Amino acid sequence: MSSILRLMPIRLASFALLACVLALPSRATIEYEISLAHPELHTFHIRMTVPNVSGSLTVQMPAWNALYEIRDFSAHVQKVEAKNGTSPLPIEKVDKQTWHITGTGTITVSYGTFWDEPGPFATQLNSEHAFINPAMILMYVPDRRTENINCSFASVPSGWRLETPAPLESFQSNQMGQSNQMGSGWTVQSAAFDALADTPFEIGYFEAVTLSGVAKPISVVVHGKIEKRQEFETKLAQICRYEISLMGGAPFERYLFIFHVGEGMGGGGMEHANGTAIAAPNENILLAVSAHEFFHLWNVKRIRPASLEPVDYTKEQYTKALWFAEGVTSTYERYALLRTGIWNKNVYYAELGRQISDLEARPANAWQSAELSSFDTWMENSAIYNRPENSVSYYTKGAVLGVLLDLWLRQQTDNMRGLDDMLRAINERFGKTGKPYRDHEDLELICTQTAGSSCKEFFDSYVSGTKPFPYEEYFGFAALKIRRVIRTSREAGTQTLFEISEDDSASEKQKEIRNGILKGQTSKPAAKAAD
Ligand SMILES: [Zn+2]
Repeated sequence: MSSILRLMPIRLASFALLACVLALPSRATIEYEISLAHPELHTFHIRMTVPNVSGSLTVQMPAWNALYEIRDFSAHVQKVEAKNGTSPLPIEKVDKQTWHITGTGTITVSYGTFWDEPGPFATQLNSEHAFINPAMILMYVPDRRTENINCSFASVPSGWRLETPAPLESFQSNQMGQSNQMGSGWTVQSAAFDALADTPFEIGYFEAVTLSGVAKPISVVVHGKIEKRQEFETKLAQICRYEISLMGGAPFERYLFIFHVGEGMGGGGMEHANGTAIAAPNENILLAVSAHEFFHLWNVKRIRPASLEPVDYTKEQYTKALWFAEGVTSTYERYALLRTGIWNKNVYYAELGRQISDLEARPANAWQSAELSSFDTWMENSAIYNRPENSVSYYTKGAVLGVLLDLWLRQQTDNMRGLDDMLRAINERFGKTGKPYRDHEDLELICTQTAGSSCKEFFDSYVSGTKPFPYEEYFGFAALKIRRVIRTSREAGTQTLFEISEDDSASEKQKEIRNGILKGQTSKPAAKAAD
């Protein structure tokens, strides 16, 4: 069941203003005004006002955001100008993404930026809606990223509504229920540029609902159409409830799913601290991507690798941890679908077999480790790099590694602990404290503490090393058989496919491990997470 959520009544006249007001003490407040005038022309007009400048101001456009890929958002930027009041100021471009302005006092920088790309990793302004990843359109002051932000939306077309995962208390109308006029409007507080950069906006005509039966408010905004809406929402709520209970509570006050559904809407999902934006052609894919993105609430948004902190928007940020941050999140995407009953176990086994087949079909699997694949993510915009001879996906390799690690942990502990316990221990130590983890060392350490015996050989062999994965031995722990099947077809040529099935002659211990994986349980209550 679901009910229509109206976060607040948005009734916007033409040329209305959505003002985001920030009222935090101390430090200066940097203001942005984003104009949506003439959305059919796809150009946002930005006005950025920076107070307390003495002598000079440097502003930069991020080179990357959302994807681990240099995309140079400055290429979208047009006509950068700077003023102090009405007086134009000297402005010099010093590299592809940096401008240097000479001036003192309060300086206003204005520019246009053209965006008409669909999908969660992009930004789009057209006559139907605006979807904004703020880091793609907003410049920042490099040494003032921690200052408060006051952001307003101007010239919003009549009747458009706004949704964002920004915390509810920061999203308030100045004049509730009144038609908006210039200068009146709405509030979204951001304590820093990085927080705003992690807060997407959907503005346009859409339906918004809240999921029922989940501990904290979870809202869903749909741009496009979901056919079996009620069934979809029921399943989505099941997934959210499962993941929240698995991880011992919701780490948010309010969460927002922004869905772009249909062909031509782009594909994939992007995680944010308190929400996600997902584009998918149909409901089944939407549900699977949702299970993945929702788990990012913990793994990567709060359980954060040290290599990705603080964010460097100017260039590649190298990390060895994506096999865990993305791959193990994919392990849990499938566990969530399985353990909520949305998938039966045969669907799960078939999907796991398909992943192993994909991984083993790539010659690069023999030499590119899970950590090296993570490190080289910045080359994924190269067609040659993506060839099977040149790379493996850290999503696939990491997702399979997650299952192998789970099997190994359960075997080591007589099924008293598994990957769920390792994730909860990492969440206690790092997620809840806000301390980032060391890419390799802390994952191995927590694994060792969960297992009660050293994980070094596993990590050396399969995480940083490239020893062939021990499928037969590890699946044997759970009495699962893995079979290689050679198939030849005219389209695909000769392929080796992996098929997983249950071994009927399982011992009690093997059955316990198998059921543990399928149902997300251990043989006894989990021991207190190691500290
Ligand atoms: Zn992901």
